[in-house]
Amino acid sequence: SFIVLEGGEGAGKTTQLQEIAQWLQASGWLAKLRSRGIDPPLVVTREPGGTALGQDLRHLLLHTTMEIAPLSELLLYAADRAQHVATCIQPQLAQGGIVLCDRFTASTVAYQGYGRGLDLALIDQVNRIATAGVVPDLVLWLDVPPQVGLERSRQRGRSDRFEQTALAFHERVQAGFAAQAAAGGDRWQRIQADAPPEVIRQAIQTCVDQHLR
Ligand code: C5P
Ligand code: MG
Repeated sequence: SFIVLEGGEGAGKTTQLQEIAQWLQASGWLAKLRSRGIDPPLVVTREPGGTALGQDLRHLLLHTTMEIAPLSELLLYAADRAQHVATCIQPQLAQGGIVLCDRFTASTVAYQGYGRGLDLALIDQVNRIATAGVVPDLVLWLDVPPQVGLERSRQRGRSDRFEQTALAFHERVQAGFAAQAAAGGDRWQRIQADAPPEVIRQAIQTCVDQHLR
């Protein structure tokens, strides 16, 4: 099962990913899979940066002082994703395991499409190539108002080349996630992330538990 957490800055994806992993362990889901010979039962990963190549690409994408043209940026994310799908996600799904991933194709649609203004049909095409058709079974969208998320993210002291990016950019990104959620049907679950971590954790657990049953 391929489960993805999506959302803008400061939505709490990384924290919640760890929480789900712990809950899967505690609730016996992982033991159940292990008893069926699925090993490892769970892989927790992220984009960009889920592979060794991806770590270098992530560093470049987040910290370079070079200007990156929008199309080049799209293709660098795609390279990260192609490597990630081929060497990590696809093999784990093929052996029957769970993949929990921090960001996937929907982030590319939201950031490079709605945010930077690249053509959405082009992005879909690139996403299809990079994923070789692998799609998430469940997308949990941690929906937080951009202003709230940016403030959280600043308080955490994060620093990358996006820290100066205008609020308007993040509002477009947010609109991109909202549009995908609206069109996403049952695969997409909106989690209200402008809430205490414990409340968010509970909402996510309910979704994941229902999904795995
Ligand atoms: O949430 P995470 O820390 O993994 O995101 C890293 C940064 O990469 C975010 O600040 C986001 O702005 C950026 N990003 C992007 N396009 C993507 C994915 C992430 O600009 N497709
Ligand atoms: Mg994060």
